[in-house]
Amino acid sequence: MTYQIHIIGGGLAGSEAAWQLAEAGFKVRLSEMRGVEGTPAHHTDALAELVCSNSFRSDDAEHNAVGLLHAEMRALGSIILREADKHRVPAGSALAVDRDGFADGVTAAIAVHANIELVRERVDGLPEGPAIIATGPLTAASLAEAVRSETGEDALAFFDAIAPIVHRDSIDMETAWFQSRWNKGEGHDYINCPMNKDEYLAFHAALISGEKGEFREWEKDTPYFEGCMPIEVMAERGVDTLRYGPMKPVGLDDPRTGRWPYAVVQLRQDNALGTLWNMVGFQTKLKHAEQVRVFRTIPGLQNAEFARLGGLHRNTFIQSPKLLDDTLRLKSRPNIRFAGQITGCEGYIESASVGLLAGRFAAAELAGKTLAPPPPETALGALLSHITGGADAETYQPMNVNFGLFPPLEGKSKKADRKAMMAARAREALQSWQAAC
Ligand SMILES: Cc1cc2nc3c(=O)[nH]c(=O)nc-3n(C[C@H](O)[C@H](O)[C@H](O)COP(=O)(O)OP(=O)(O)OC[C@H]3O[C@@H](n4cnc5c(N)ncnc54)[C@H](O)[C@@H]3O)c2cc1C
Repeated sequence: MTYQIHIIGGGLAGSEAAWQLAEAGFKVRLSEMRGVEGTPAHHTDALAELVCSNSFRSDDAEHNAVGLLHAEMRALGSIILREADKHRVPAGSALAVDRDGFADGVTAAIAVHANIELVRERVDGLPEGPAIIATGPLTAASLAEAVRSETGEDALAFFDAIAPIVHRDSIDMETAWFQSRWNKGEGHDYINCPMNKDEYLAFHAALISGEKGEFREWEKDTPYFEGCMPIEVMAERGVDTLRYGPMKPVGLDDPRTGRWPYAVVQLRQDNALGTLWNMVGFQTKLKHAEQVRVFRTIPGLQNAEFARLGGLHRNTFIQSPKLLDDTLRLKSRPNIRFAGQITGCEGYIESASVGLLAGRFAAAELAGKTLAPPPPETALGALLSHITGGADAETYQPMNVNFGLFPPLEGKSKKADRKAMMAARAREALQSWQAAC
């Protein structure tokens, strides 16, 4: 088949992008290496294989940002959501699927589509384009190298080192305060949570004894340990190691005492909106429930709500905020788009949603039109703006969709009502965007 666009990677994102383009009438070549060569995490040759959990998380579109993303994708004719709904299994308010039925359903839909040629091959270089790269967290080494030589040494990561991210409005500012160390920069760039000696020693002990997740066999050789050591590993090196590292208190005057505390946990602004703050140096392999328990013992974070918990995994992703434009095109080679987890979103559904957007942007371009990005008030738009500019490029780490990525509501509102109000605002914004498309 003569094709108009080449999509590399038949995972969640590549399958969705291919579907959107094919449904819009464009001829697609979809290259998937499984069938010829496997990855360390996939077990089958099926497209859109779910490598771990069988859940797409909450399906509640009224109060949950992931559920809202599901609803928006359904409204835009997503193949991933169509097959997920078809192969749904009982899971309360979550959308969970029969994984084989789901992946087989996506594979069959793609394989029989008259506009898609599915080719089992590994692609080793960047195509001339038009193309979409959707090769995911386990991108084959040869292609990763090609991406790296195009984007620059520091612009492609082979692992993530995720520190927890906290919703700003859940931090107790009676205890925490704004200040940069020695009042440098603007003087108030960080939020500081102080600890006295007893609090620090108890926290140190909790970090060491907390339950940790294991590295998978194929992750163990990932050469990242020294560069971004988990906080609990640093704690094991000595009782004071953290006080001379990420928790050092020097140059930080607690306004309640006028003195430096015994130790400090610092949070740095994580998105342009200022709604999300990350715990500096707190990348961790502690299990999620342990993170919530241990990190809520930090003074000022006793009621912390986490937009994302920490983790360390093998993960290939690019520095999207710097490299991509607002329609996911590589700025240095605009005939190539990126989609899925390689853009630095995190999770099955987020990856598929970025595939959906890449497919739609590419379809518009092939038709000689321009498609404006969805508004940031929508779940799709909020995630896209984070990836393509809202996040700090230098400290960019993978992110799930969450309400902290959405512009804050205007005017006053009760905290309990905010999610529903944001969801209602998103529905209206999506409708206007669709009407203008
Ligand atoms: C071990 C592990 C566990 C995970 N668990 C979860 C979880 O429980 N829940 C969750 O939401 N997310 C989880 N994730 C993240 C999840 O895998 C991704 O969010 C999602 O699959 C990303 O979709 P994608 O389309 O970007 O990449 P993928 O789904 O990985 O698809 C990329 C595809 O590209 C192919 N490919 C790679 N290189 C080439 C090449 N050079 N040429 C041709 N084809 C190529 C791969 O074979 C693959 O099929 C996990 C990831 C890993 C690695």
